[in-house]
Amino acid sequence: MAVGDADVLVVGGGPTGLLTACELLRRGVRVRIVDRAREPTGVPKALSLWPRVRDILADLGVGDEVQDTSVPVRAFRYFSDRRPVASLTFTEELAARQLPQYETERILTERLHALGGKIERGVRLLCLDDVDFSGRIEPGGTVTAVLEHEDGGGVERFTVPFVVGADGAGSAVRGQLGIGFEGSTYEMAFALVDTYIEGRLPPDEISYYQTTNGTLVVVPQPRGVFRFLSVMPDGGEMSREAMQQIIDTRGPHGVRITEPVWETVFRVHARRATDFRRGRVFLAGDAAHVHSPAGGQGMNNGLQDAQNLSWKLAAVLQGRSPLPLLDSYGTERAEATRRIVRDTDLHTRALTARTARRAAVRDTAFRLLD
Ligand SMILES: Cc1cc2nc3c(=O)[nH]c(=O)nc-3n(C[C@H](O)[C@H](O)[C@H](O)COP(=O)(O)OP(=O)(O)OC[C@H]3O[C@@H](n4cnc5c(N)ncnc54)[C@H](O)[C@@H]3O)c2cc1C
Repeated sequence: MAVGDADVLVVGGGPTGLLTACELLRRGVRVRIVDRAREPTGVPKALSLWPRVRDILADLGVGDEVQDTSVPVRAFRYFSDRRPVASLTFTEELAARQLPQYETERILTERLHALGGKIERGVRLLCLDDVDFSGRIEPGGTVTAVLEHEDGGGVERFTVPFVVGADGAGSAVRGQLGIGFEGSTYEMAFALVDTYIEGRLPPDEISYYQTTNGTLVVVPQPRGVFRFLSVMPDGGEMSREAMQQIIDTRGPHGVRITEPVWETVFRVHARRATDFRRGRVFLAGDAAHVHSPAGGQGMNNGLQDAQNLSWKLAAVLQGRSPLPLLDSYGTERAEATRRIVRDTDLHTRALTARTARRAAVRDTAFRLLD
């Protein structure tokens, strides 16, 4: 694509960037989307697709494929020292559906291609020039992105009316804008094993096995794979054997890990950008907010950013709305993010209660929800 051939440059081809590009293209906006990675990551990370996001995906025309490839979660079951404490059940409309993130990305990538778009891979944003730090959006303005082509194609200057930074938690775009990422990092690390199993587990329920030594979360996925997620044992190393020991001591009886498909250890942060826009440059997805995976909201929040921002950019670019419409993006998404960070933090602290007194308070609260 030649310089000046796009109205919006999307930096990052994860779920947020992909949906942003699709939503713009379907409204007739010319989009360029670049990603520094040569290949998609192919990891399952985010699993849950909540109803609002399923509506957005259905509106994009991929609802049937999401429905056919995912599995529903009809209940959350809470246990305390293996005794049932509470259950939350969901109707079909309110149930989350579980789909590995690489499948969500594949579905969005295929939709992008059908709409005439394509991710340019191996292209990294180095810096941004001509950003208006006054915060205003002047009519007719542009931003210049400096892009490095890793295949020896050198460095390119690309000038465009709007840039969307969907480049993940370590966002280069956010760094270029000098926008803070306020919040904190939880002390403990978390470990997860996605695996085939021997034994029986409900295929449509998420189970929380809570103890004062930590909580084990069990999440179903398509094709008989289950996710086991736990706080890392104090001073311990995580391995398939260590996770099996956690299952044996605090989880469901008679379940054995047989064939792991993904294992990782990660730290959890609760942070959000102090601003979602500077001049003609926007932040979306993990570039704007990261929070605990409790409740499976991270990718969902980013996809809602993408949808909110895209129709507004299209309306402004096509002269159907005045520029100030774009101010509402940050206001609306910052408030949604504030609530998600607050709620997931509460949920995470409940799951990591380490004293008998705190566990008793938590169990009482869950019983009241039942
Ligand atoms: C273990 C784990 C479990 C999770 N579980 C859930 C869950 O159950 N539910 C849920 O909703 N969320 C979950 N999440 C969170 C979810 O994975 C993220 O919120 C989601 O990936 C964010 O998508 P994104 O597109 O905003 O960012 P990313 O997926 O991080 O994509 C950013 C993209 O930008 C590219 N990029 C970065 N820098 C540059 C640059 N300078 N130039 C060009 N490209 C660049 C990267 O290569 C990448 O492809 C989980 C996360 C983890 C780690």
